[in-house]
Amino acid sequence: MLIPKPIGGAIRGSLRAITNRYVPLQVQLVVTRRCNLSCGYCNEYDDFSPPTPYEALRQYVEHLADLGTVVLTFTGGEPLLNPRLDDVCAYAVSKGIVVTSITNGYPVNKTWIKRLNDARLTLLQVSVDNLEPNELSQKSWSRLKGKLELLRDHADFSVNVNAVLGACSADETRTLVKEVRKMGFYQTVGLMHDGMGKIISGLVGDDALPAFHNEITRMSRKSVFHYFGEGWEARMLTEGTAPWKCRAGARYLYVDEDGIVSTCSQRRGKPGIPLLEYDHERLVYEWHLPKGCDQRCTIGCVRRASSIDEWRAQDGEPWDNIPRSGRPDGGRPQDNEADPERMLISISVGED
Ligand code: SF4
Ligand code: SF4
Repeated sequence: MLIPKPIGGAIRGSLRAITNRYVPLQVQLVVTRRCNLSCGYCNEYDDFSPPTPYEALRQYVEHLADLGTVVLTFTGGEPLLNPRLDDVCAYAVSKGIVVTSITNGYPVNKTWIKRLNDARLTLLQVSVDNLEPNELSQKSWSRLKGKLELLRDHADFSVNVNAVLGACSADETRTLVKEVRKMGFYQTVGLMHDGMGKIISGLVGDDALPAFHNEITRMSRKSVFHYFGEGWEARMLTEGTAPWKCRAGARYLYVDEDGIVSTCSQRRGKPGIPLLEYDHERLVYEWHLPKGCDQRCTIGCVRRASSIDEWRAQDGEPWDNIPRSGRPDGGRPQDNEADPERMLISISVGED
């Protein structure tokens, strides 16, 4: 069973988020852009960036705690390439924030597991896309089975295995899901999409994907938290759209390695405000703002974080309609249009 740490902080944070609309439920923080792999579908990494310095991360965490953040998720690149990841985790937990991290699994070893145990990590998400490496993904069962066994035997935190449908054949995915179940881990599935947000069926095939997604979703073992905001995938697969009220920029923030806030990883640089200047007024503004790119959006974690407010109206003014003097940040140039160029094939890197 998934028990958030610190439990007191999780309860207080949940109550805060229920009673106050302008509290971030999840923040994804890039702790290094560098990755040790080069997956064919990914646009969120490079092979040279240094880790974000610890002192900067500590400042970000402090500010996120002041904003009331409930869950902080480390992402990248490959988060375990930041040698002080456990220190940042421990600091966030000491501030009452529940911490999770994403990894491609390759750097996992006994030392890292012990360090993350000591830092009181709540959940580690490992991506496993196929049985054997192919041109789309090297996150393969054959390479990661030993790492997952280490996690099963030594981790005090929960483990979720995320697989991307279409990164291997349907039969391979079925085998993968069965193997993950045997290990007792949670499992989620992601969908691939192209530069305009359209879902790609990959090696599964267009006709087979809706039924296959349904089959695999039913086979997966989920924590109670994974049920929030569910159900949009079936509609998206059959109708091509699944409208919702995106609260990115308020209930969810994406903070890059330089501490710049974007509404999500697919709108990088928008609004492009430094986290340390991101304030309550901006949360209010983004909560009310219709994003205009929601119809075909496949970013599951933002949908999950936004689901708590789905019943509430979203009636904000687009940025251009607000006089500069009345803007929350005093008139910084903004662009709230989605940028299709950024919406490249990008699945579940930090966006399960
Ligand atoms: S998907 Fe993850 S593991 Fe693959 S290149 Fe991107 S950041 Fe690295
Ligand atoms: S791409 Fe999706 S998550 Fe990002 S702002 Fe648009 S609707 Fe929201």
